[in-house]
Amino acid sequence: MDLEKLWQSTLGEMEIQLTKANFSMWLKDSRLVDRKDGTFYVALPSNFAKTWIEDKYYKNILGILRNADSSVKKIEFVINPQDAVPQKNIAGIKDFGKIDSAELEFSGVDPITNLNPHYTLSSFVVGSSNELAFAAAKAITEEIGKYNPFFVYGGVGLGKTHLIQAVGNEIFSKYQKKVRPKYVPSEQFTREVVWGLRNDRIESVKKKYRDVDVLIIDDIQFIGGKEKTEEEFFHTFNALYENNKQIIISSDRPPQSLPTLEERLRSRFEGGFVADIGYPEYEMRVAIIRNKLSLARRELSEEIIDLLARRLRKNIRELEGVLKKLLFLQEQKQTELTKAAVEELIEKSTKNLSKRVNDAQILKAVAEFFGVSIEDIISHNRRKEVVEPRQIAMYLLREISELSYPYIGEKMGRDHTTAIHSYEKINQEINRSPAFNQKILTIKDIIYKS
Ligand code: ADP
Ligand code: MG
Repeated sequence: MDLEKLWQSTLGEMEIQLTKANFSMWLKDSRLVDRKDGTFYVALPSNFAKTWIEDKYYKNILGILRNADSSVKKIEFVINPQDAVPQKNIAGIKDFGKIDSAELEFSGVDPITNLNPHYTLSSFVVGSSNELAFAAAKAITEEIGKYNPFFVYGGVGLGKTHLIQAVGNEIFSKYQKKVRPKYVPSEQFTREVVWGLRNDRIESVKKKYRDVDVLIIDDIQFIGGKEKTEEEFFHTFNALYENNKQIIISSDRPPQSLPTLEERLRSRFEGGFVADIGYPEYEMRVAIIRNKLSLARRELSEEIIDLLARRLRKNIRELEGVLKKLLFLQEQKQTELTKAAVEELIEKSTKNLSKRVNDAQILKAVAEFFGVSIEDIISHNRRKEVVEPRQIAMYLLREISELSYPYIGEKMGRDHTTAIHSYEKINQEINRSPAFNQKILTIKDIIYKS
């Protein structure tokens, strides 16, 4: 069996199981390079990644591989030989000067822009949930600096990274590399600033980011609260902004809901062009599936496409993960899969996600979001400030963990009719108010990241 396909399908599954940050940090740049007897060799870009993955994910990966290919006995992780990376880890922080390019070559990412050429505007399916963000993105490629900063926000797996990277790629090719974009996830920016400060190299880190024409910074919510980084980011932001350079930012929530971000930064963001990306509607989900199929030169029956589009509604990454697995299974079995088999696959893939979350995490996230205590939420206090968090907690226990109403009632010291009422009330409110929906999305993200 084709190693590449086997690995793609394994990654598809891991992508669903891990948080996005963890997945891209540890597994995105991995490859299955060889197999001998029962041993499978997986190449990783650094020793650091090797230690981490062996420690945390070995069993999961082995399990998934075995499901797909029962001849797998064990996995050996190797450092990709031609990209051998000097190991100079200072308390887990990488030597960026050296590691950057090695990691980048590995994943096909452009070493100068840090952009993944795979994300393009033409492969981005547009629908009512993202058309405003898309239109602004397109306008920026035609007139750099037109909307500045451009701030895109939305829930997990809905296309933020794809869109902002696509703008960078489009600009890079359109202006024959004369305009220099640079993409950086905010966690990477943070690590580099910390590394620069510790190693007396902050000037070179600064220069790296102030020397660009379009700065694309992903998942800005991770910068908030880290004082030194925020300070650096603020100065970089100002320097670029004052020179009419384009700044593009993504976040999991709107600027006004970035609680730990300094006021001056938040107001700068609000002063730019802010667009959200919401859940894709049915037609768009179908279009995305067709688009991915045509890119992979594969086919599925109308019935199966419809089934996937109906069942996987809230996360395009998850939709893609299931699709990858499905195509892999289809190829392996050499037949079209039955509807029941696909249902089962969806069930299994989405369960993984809810299994990762326990009741305590849900209560904790709700409490954290509203700044109340878990005791308040469970108490019989009827103050408005705790009634809503309580109803939201019950809603999420049902929605994420699929717990029974009697169980939820018991857990919250109430009867099951209260649990049902809460669920329905919150559900209605979500459908009625986009702002409320956004609030729930943000809490869910806190839960999945915990
Ligand atoms: P986010 O950054 O919002 O978490 P991503 O940009 O990583 O989400 O998107 C998740 C996956 O879904 C990516 O593989 C991306 O290519 C795909 N995707 C998201 N939105 C679209 C879209 N509108 N058209 C095509 N693919 C999409
Ligand atoms: Mg992203």
